[in-house]
Amino acid sequence: MMDVINNYFRSHKLEDSIIPRNREIIAKSNLETLKIGLIVSFVVFSGAGIYYLFRDPMRSIPDFVFSISLVVIYFLVRKLKNPSIVLICLYSVSEYFCLFTMSLSFVQPNMLAVVGVCILCILPSEILDRSQRVEFFSLFNTILMSIVSLCVKDPFFGLKDSIHFFGAFLIGVAVGAHTRVGHLQQFELQRKTESQRIIDFLTGLMNRRKLFDDLSIMRKENKMIAFAVMIDVDFFKEFNDTYGHQSGDLVLQKIGSVLSEEAARNGIVFYRYGGEEFIGIGTCSQINVPSVCESVRMQIEDLNVKFEESPFSKVTVSIGYATNENNRFNQDELIRMTDSALYHAKRAGRNRTVAWEGEFEFLKDLALRLDDELIV
Ligand code: GH3
Ligand code: MG
Ligand code: MG
Repeated sequence: MMDVINNYFRSHKLEDSIIPRNREIIAKSNLETLKIGLIVSFVVFSGAGIYYLFRDPMRSIPDFVFSISLVVIYFLVRKLKNPSIVLICLYSVSEYFCLFTMSLSFVQPNMLAVVGVCILCILPSEILDRSQRVEFFSLFNTILMSIVSLCVKDPFFGLKDSIHFFGAFLIGVAVGAHTRVGHLQQFELQRKTESQRIIDFLTGLMNRRKLFDDLSIMRKENKMIAFAVMIDVDFFKEFNDTYGHQSGDLVLQKIGSVLSEEAARNGIVFYRYGGEEFIGIGTCSQINVPSVCESVRMQIEDLNVKFEESPFSKVTVSIGYATNENNRFNQDELIRMTDSALYHAKRAGRNRTVAWEGEFEFLKDLALRLDDELIV
């Protein structure tokens, strides 16, 4: 008993933190409930319709009409995505169901008691929403059913029904709170596991795995990258050697914050590409990429992290970027071009932003060839 009460209050507390973070997955689950509920109800009520067809054909009409309306609703709701609309539909269909049950009481008073008790037991555990709302909704229907029962039956049976309805409502609320806690915790756990899989814990940015996941989704959806940006910390090995790895980690964290803020402002998605390298991907061609890159570079310079051994006396980054005019380049090409621009920025002295231009490839190739020749 204590467990049930504890779960009840826990469910209320949990909702405030879990529901806003898991709105989409909750909507998915609610939509599944709605669809399964519609299918099960269709089977039950069309079965009842067939049963009555051979005994009392007139009595089967409401069951058939209701079953057909459930099929129509099923096809209307099955593609819903917006969490609020899914929830509104779930409540509306549940209410439609309750009203239909109540209307049956005029034809067959016993139906109200049987189906009503089932609904009031099941309803609060099926809707994933704030407990207060679910419970208010269920209480509202309990009172409504009791009133209908008191009106259509003689007072003794009406009172008996009402007691049953309130009993069913209390069981529903207790069981509902219990199942909601379980569901919500499961969703939160899934969300945390997924975020650990894709988030780099040091910088808070998404990791390389997520970059490849996103790129592959974009490929499947035929979405083009409008531009790519690559950022690399200058002389970072030396920074680590001089100030220690922990200070280096702190620098990466600060750069992560700058990039997160920039991402929120400009709709670029930044990932930690490797150790001290970051990549930004954008799908909107309206963004002024050179100005965003320069802003990022200057913000990092303005962090003013002391670095005596650097020619700039502070931590700086080099940035390369490439834009995809007329969508001429595929993902791999664009990333290679961005890498090449970054390489050029390093060669040109670091702490700068450089755009990809065709000839850099040539310069890089030439430089590599010269390096090879020197080695030979
Ligand atoms: P450049 O200006 O050419 O980029 O020189 P660099 O020293 O930054 O380049 P290099 O690739 O030689 O060094 C990268 C360094 O980044 C090596 C490694 O110690 C450091 N690094 C990589 N990942 C981490 C990390 O997670 N934390 C810290 N503190 N350092 C890291
Ligand atoms: Mg590097
Ligand atoms: Mg570096």
